[in-house]
Amino acid sequence: MTDTQTVDLERFVAGVVERYGHDPMNLLQVLRDVQDRYACISDEAAAAVGQAMQIAPMHVQCVVDFYSFLHRTPRGRYDVLFSDNIVDRMLGKDALMAQLCERLAVTPGETRTDGRVSIDNTSCTGMPDQGPAMLVNGWALTHLTPARIDTIADLIDREVPLVKWPGIYCEVEDNVRRRDLLLGEPYIDGSALRAVTQRGPEAALDEMMASGLRGLGGAGFKTASKWALSRQAEGHEHFVVCNADEGEPGTFKDRVLLQSHANLVFEGMAVCARVVGARRGFVYLRGEYRYMLDLLQITLAQRRRAGLLGRGILGVEGFDFDIEIHLGAGAYICGEESALLESLEGKRGVPRKRPPFPVTRGHHNEPTVVNNVETFAAAAKIAVNGGAWWAARGTEQSPGTKLLSVSGDCARPGVYEYPFGVTVRQVLEDCGARDTQAVQIAGPAGHLVPEREFDRRIAHEDIITGGSFMVFDRGRDLLDVVRNFAGFFRHESCGFCTPCRVGTTLMRDLVEKVAGGHGTPYDLQEMKHLGKVMKQASHCGLGLTAPNPVLDTLDKFPEIWAGRLKSRDFEPAFDLDAALAESRALTGRDDVHAHLG
Ligand code: SF4
Repeated sequence: MTDTQTVDLERFVAGVVERYGHDPMNLLQVLRDVQDRYACISDEAAAAVGQAMQIAPMHVQCVVDFYSFLHRTPRGRYDVLFSDNIVDRMLGKDALMAQLCERLAVTPGETRTDGRVSIDNTSCTGMPDQGPAMLVNGWALTHLTPARIDTIADLIDREVPLVKWPGIYCEVEDNVRRRDLLLGEPYIDGSALRAVTQRGPEAALDEMMASGLRGLGGAGFKTASKWALSRQAEGHEHFVVCNADEGEPGTFKDRVLLQSHANLVFEGMAVCARVVGARRGFVYLRGEYRYMLDLLQITLAQRRRAGLLGRGILGVEGFDFDIEIHLGAGAYICGEESALLESLEGKRGVPRKRPPFPVTRGHHNEPTVVNNVETFAAAAKIAVNGGAWWAARGTEQSPGTKLLSVSGDCARPGVYEYPFGVTVRQVLEDCGARDTQAVQIAGPAGHLVPEREFDRRIAHEDIITGGSFMVFDRGRDLLDVVRNFAGFFRHESCGFCTPCRVGTTLMRDLVEKVAGGHGTPYDLQEMKHLGKVMKQASHCGLGLTAPNPVLDTLDKFPEIWAGRLKSRDFEPAFDLDAALAESRALTGRDDVHAHLG
C-alpha cells in the first residue's frame, strides 16, 4: 500500500469505529463496513481495525476467518453466491451455475483474473419457495431461469451497477398460503404495549404463562418460564435478543415475518423488555437477509417517532427500551443461541458451555432473554388477546399455532400457519404435493418422514420443527438429499471440537464414497459407528445432530444405501496410485516399483 492509501484506510476505519462507539462488541459490524469499502479485510485493514478498537490484530483476523461472508483477499466486484439448498438443486441450480460460469469464464470458487466476478456456492439463502436463488454482493435474487442467467451474465459483462438491474429479479415474495392466529387478523401497532402498560408487567407475564407459548424456533422451552427466570436473575442490566439468524435449510417463515410484520416482532421484544426490565434489545439478522436491513431500520425509526421505542414508551416513566440490529456474516452455527451471543459481542460464533444459560448469564454475562422471531411475534399477539386465546388452539403440550416453510415437490410452496397437531398428510394435501416419497421436517438436523408415517403430527408430542418442511416425490434420489446435507454440515461445523470437525468431514467422505458406487457393508457400519461417536462427544447441537440424515436413512430407507453397494470387499475411498502421479512426474520415476499393485 502507498502512504496515501494507508492514510485513507486508517481515516476510513477511524470513522467507522467512531460511528460504532469504539465498542469491541461491534467488531463484526465494523468489519462488514470495511469490507464493503475495500472488498476484503486485508492484513493492513485488520491491523487498522485492531489499533482503532484496541483489539489484537490476530483476534481481528480470527474473526474474519470464522465468517464465510468476510474475506482476507478480494472477491469479484460482482460476488455471486448460489443458494445450495437441496431444493434449489432440485429446481435446477447446478445447471444455472454452470451456465453462468461458462458465460463469464469463471471457475466455481475462484475470482476471475480481471477481478470482475467470482461465483461460488453458499448454504441456503432462505428462498427455496422461490428458487433457484442467489446473492449478488449480498443482495437476494430469486426465481432464476436460464433466460435470467443470460441477462445477468450480460449485466456483469457490461459492469452495470446492481441498482440498475431489473427490479423484478430482486423481488422476494411472501407466499403466505394459510393464515391462523398469528397472520390471520390485522394488528394495530402499539396495541400489545398498551395492553401491557394497562395490565402491568406481572399480569402480562401471567398471561404469557396462561398461553403456554413455547419457543417456536424448535427447542420448545416455555417462553413465560424463560422470561420469569430472567426477570428474577440478578444483574446490572437485562437484555432482550431476537434470534433472526434463520439458517436452517428450508426455513423462511421468519423472512416473511420480518419483511411484512416487523412491527409485530419489535413489539413482542418490547413486551418482553417490559416484563424482564430490559432497556436494550438486539436483533441478530442473518447476513443473507441483508436486503431487508434498511426497511427494518426505517420501521425502528418510525416506532421511535410514534413513542413505541426509546425513552418513556407510551408516556410511561421508566419504560425505556430500544433495539439495535446486528448483521451476521454467513455462519449457520450463530443460530445456536450461545454462539449468537458470542457473535453479538464481536467474537467468533463458537457455542458456549452451558450452564450457565443466557437467562442468567447471556449478553455481556448479564441476564438475557433470547427468543426467535416467531416467538416474539406470538408474544405480541398474546399480550393483546390474552393467554386463553392462544391456548385454545393446538394441542395440550403444544398450544397455539406454528408457521411452516413448505418447499420442494409441491404445487404451492410458501408459508402455512397451522394449529399444532396438524398431520403431515394434511400439509401435503394443502400444498399440492403429489406422489410424495418422504418429507424432511426440521431441516437437515431433523427427521426424514416416510409415507407410512404421514399421519404423524407436528407438535411437541410427536414431531417438532422450527419450520422447515421439504417435500420429495418418488422421482427423487434420497441419497442426493443425504449428500447435500452431509456437505452442509461439513461446511458449517465451526471447527471447535474434534468429533464434529473431523466427524462431519469423514461422514461426508463416506457418503460420497457409497454414492459413487465404491461403498461396502463395512462403510455403512463405519457411518453408524461414526454417527454414534459424534452424538456422544460433540460440544453442541450441530455436531449432535449432524449424523441424523445418514442414521435416519440407514434406519428408514436402507434400500437407498444397499442399492449402491456393488462390492462386498474393502474398497479404498480414493485412488492412491493416481494421487501419487504428481510425485512420479516430479521425481521422473515411472517404473513398476513407483506404482501400487
Ligand atoms: Fe462447533 Fe460442531 Fe463442536 Fe458445535 S459440535 S462446537 S459446531 S465443532
